[in-house]
Amino acid sequence: MTKSFDEFGLQPDILKGIYDIGFEEPSPIQIECIPAVLRGEDVIGQAQTGTGKTAAFGIPILDRIQTQVNQVQSIILTPTRELAIQVSEELRRIGRPGRIKTLPIYGGQSIGRQVKALEQGVHVVIGTPGRLLDHLRRGTLKVDAIEVIVLDEADEMLDMGFIEDIESVLRFVPTDRQLLLFSATMPPAIRQLANKYMRKPRYITINRGDVSVPMIKQVYYRVLENHKIDALCRILDSEEVNLGIVFCRTKKGVDELAEALQARGYLSGGLHGDLQQYQRDRVMSAFRNSEIELLVATDVAARGIDVGSVTHVINFDIPQDVESYVHRIGRTGRAGRAGVALTLVTPREMKQLRTIEEETGNRLKSKELPTLEEIAT
Ligand code: ADP
Ligand code: MG
Repeated sequence: MTKSFDEFGLQPDILKGIYDIGFEEPSPIQIECIPAVLRGEDVIGQAQTGTGKTAAFGIPILDRIQTQVNQVQSIILTPTRELAIQVSEELRRIGRPGRIKTLPIYGGQSIGRQVKALEQGVHVVIGTPGRLLDHLRRGTLKVDAIEVIVLDEADEMLDMGFIEDIESVLRFVPTDRQLLLFSATMPPAIRQLANKYMRKPRYITINRGDVSVPMIKQVYYRVLENHKIDALCRILDSEEVNLGIVFCRTKKGVDELAEALQARGYLSGGLHGDLQQYQRDRVMSAFRNSEIELLVATDVAARGIDVGSVTHVINFDIPQDVESYVHRIGRTGRAGRAGVALTLVTPREMKQLRTIEEETGNRLKSKELPTLEEIAT
């Protein structure tokens, strides 16, 4: 079944926007999701990261925006500020810049500036739940014209404790709205949320086997705890890392590792939730522009980040659970590109590694650390 974007009956300018940003064919989740959303159905979309969920809901939303109506017609809830910016940007680009106005709003940014931007007239607002709720309560975000609400990365939002804010947002908006929910996993809390707020939702599930995305080579190295930084540097010196994300378990770990890497001459920057918004923005834009080659981050800070050219994901600290592993490695191998996921494992952590292997159904390849001679050549 080859499907083409031409077959959805989309408005010509949206179709052009899609081709202009370089999409050639719809992904499996897009093939199923776009018509359902265009028909007005509530949809629950489950597919692993990197399968194009943003455009799966974004394209039909953009298609239905009435540009002559200068009001917010759709709101999209995302777990992090970075993701809000990213989704807003992708929709802005598909929606032909200038015609459909999208606005990311998130905590940490001046509320006054956001109010002004909203007053200018915006069609789609993308934001973190807390800040969206804040604007709804202040009346600076009007609900009258809202037709579609999206919960993007719903599992992440629940993990981060946003459930009350999400429910408050849902109670604020008109009840005849269309609700779309996207998630990489479907824990019970999400099903409950769906039962409570959705009308006969259509479940769209794309199984691992259905997507060609995971061209991710997965490897692990056995290392001793106090050799981890040396081991990482050897790996960095022997692998062709174009852009890499290095995951640490704690914020302190991120700070320390980013500093240690900088001290050794690696262009790197740390990203975690305790940094100021301007610091986070600066690190992210340096990473996107390849001014730094390594982003050292916690799980939370790196959620949903989509930088297309990430070649390596490195688990400096082994992820605490399988979901985290899947989310982390999904930061590479985006949109069918090849990627490498490397995990450092201390002897004590071998059990965790086996659990990850069992639950993902993937055996990781064991590799020896490169020797100094190998690095030299
Ligand atoms: P997800 O939300 O499922 O993790 P994204 O929506 O962030 O995935 O998409 C991952 C990447 O794939 C993005 O860079 C996006 O622009 C790209 N992409 C999405 N759909 C397509 C498509 N049909 N063709 C090519 N690239 C696509
Ligand atoms: Mg997504």
